[in-house]
Amino acid sequence: MSWIKVSANCLLCGENNFKMLGVRGTREYTGADPSGEPHITTNVVRCRNCDFVYINPEIKGVEQFEREYYNNPDNYHAVNDGDASKLYSKRLKLISKFKKSGNLLDVGSGKGEFLNVAIKAGWSASGIEPSQAFCEYAEQTYKVSTVQGYIDEIKTIPRFDFDVITLHHVLEHMHSPAAQLLAISNYLKPDGILFIEVPNVNSYFLRVIDLFFRLKGLNWSSRLSPLHPPYHKFGYNKKSLMFLLNRCNYETLVVTTLSGRERGHKTYSDKSFNLVSLLRDLTSSILNLVGNGEMLCIIAKKKS
Ligand SMILES: [Zn+2]
Repeated sequence: MSWIKVSANCLLCGENNFKMLGVRGTREYTGADPSGEPHITTNVVRCRNCDFVYINPEIKGVEQFEREYYNNPDNYHAVNDGDASKLYSKRLKLISKFKKSGNLLDVGSGKGEFLNVAIKAGWSASGIEPSQAFCEYAEQTYKVSTVQGYIDEIKTIPRFDFDVITLHHVLEHMHSPAAQLLAISNYLKPDGILFIEVPNVNSYFLRVIDLFFRLKGLNWSSRLSPLHPPYHKFGYNKKSLMFLLNRCNYETLVVTTLSGRERGHKTYSDKSFNLVSLLRDLTSSILNLVGNGEMLCIIAKKKS
């Protein structure tokens, strides 16, 4: 396995003017094996121009581990067990303020949980997903329809056919988000709606974790996780996400944050009780009461 470090400009605006937020590597997270090998690190930085958070240098070689992680239905859990219906119903409620029914495409449909909830709510929904194993899981478990591949490569999906296109926790993995969003606009109806959810890189929750690291004398940053699950190399806040959408010819209709309690906290720790999980849940609940939650949602339409 070879690991190559490549310095990177901001993916959104192209500038090379950034602020260091901290270090993140294979050992730099709570629960990591402190002697785990190999120990590879990179820096988490924030673009001073557009607020985009990214890793610098970029690490080449980790893609293989990311692909394996997102191709294993047994080990990967996007949503805490039992919470999928509740979580995705909340998202459909947000979407229904602009579209109440119709043709929906979920880009990066994963194991199909959202498609299942959308179809039960009356949507005509299908998915597109790079992982063959996830496609098979979704079709066998929920009897939902998915196409294996990437939106900018597949030619079989009808253009300008969808009332709603959704991306749930997909954009933070994309190396070319602008190209993907431009491709997506070719599949939306002229009055179609784009829904995006990503982790909120500015959430109070992550800021508290970074403060906790500083108090322990560690220069780590919790904002991204480029070298271990969930392999987030890119981070958005309201400003940078709106900047990206504007550049890709979308007009933001609403941008908001939501709690992350149902999503993410138990994805790669064990499911049994432990004090860290309990503290995380409590901290998340309290911080979400004051807003600026861990999840960032945006609804947009194509500029006319
Ligand atoms: Zn930038």
